[in-house]
Amino acid sequence: MAWPHRGAGLVYRRRTVAAGLCRFAVCARSRAQESCMKLLVVLLVILFGVWLWRSRRLAERQSEAPPKALQNMVTCAVCGVHLPQSEALTGARGLYCSAAHRQQAER
Ligand SMILES: [Zn+2]
Repeated sequence: MAWPHRGAGLVYRRRTVAAGLCRFAVCARSRAQESCMKLLVVLLVILFGVWLWRSRRLAERQSEAPPKALQNMVTCAVCGVHLPQSEALTGARGLYCSAAHRQQAER
């Protein structure tokens, strides 16, 4: 009967001591320090938001850009101009930039 009562008193005393310490810590901090801390927290939140926005934008850009296929470049047998192999005309003596050069070379 006596033990629970004493235990409760001990808990109560510990709580008041803790509350007193907390109050002391809050009171010891000045208004300028508190506003400085608030400003720091707001700044950190803004920086985090900017970082999140930029990382998402970068990820979107990377997913949008189509991979460029590498193409072989060939040289026209007549004029020497370089063009993609897919656009070149194939003749009996080589590759050409146009039908006119193919005719000219294979006459
Ligand atoms: Zn040509």
